[in-house]
Amino acid sequence: MILLNEYQTLASGTAVYPGRLSPHGLMYAALKMNGEAGELAEHIYTAEYRGAFTPKEIELIVKEVGDVAWYCAAICDELKCSLFYATGSELNVFNMTARMSMEDLGLRLNAEAGKLAEHVGKAMRDDGYGMPDSYARGVLRQENLPRVTHEDVGSGPKFSNNELTPDRRAKIIAQVKAVMLTLDAIADKLGTNFPHCLELNLKKLADRQARGVLQGSGDNR
Ligand SMILES: [Mg+2]
Repeated sequence: MILLNEYQTLASGTAVYPGRLSPHGLMYAALKMNGEAGELAEHIYTAEYRGAFTPKEIELIVKEVGDVAWYCAAICDELKCSLFYATGSELNVFNMTARMSMEDLGLRLNAEAGKLAEHVGKAMRDDGYGMPDSYARGVLRQENLPRVTHEDVGSGPKFSNNELTPDRRAKIIAQVKAVMLTLDAIADKLGTNFPHCLELNLKKLADRQARGVLQGSGDNR
């Protein structure tokens, strides 16, 4: 059984994405985590529509569980926080599986991932996180909106607001936990377990790394 911190370390070794370890990295990881949660939900409703969870569909969902978890690890990297700290030791403790259907869990996963993105958006809007100087804290008012000119585009923005407020950071960490616990319940519902999904995810990434195709898009690289 792989430990969460071990997973985070190994996942970090495969993390190639724009803006890594900067505000853009957190924005990217939050967006992509929502994309992966959406992919997972799509497989659930396809299976429901067809009336059965076939081994192939279960395999596809297990893959997405790993993909979402990978972005949870990346988000923790961005927050300089351990995945184990964020998740806590409640995996398999609060078992949602019995109470919730697969559709419920898919919906819940997307709700929790969406809330995480919401906090990143609020950090940008309300705290100036990752915003150019002209958006600095407290100056984002209608009369101060930057007027973009061709020269502005040429010189590019200057970024200086690189820290999340402690409150915002704590809220994002709490959402990582909510997502991780939901992934755990989904894995359980599928008759597998979360650490196994994480191991499969690392195997997929190690294979891509060995073939030099970590960067790029699509599951069939
Ligand atoms: Mg995916």
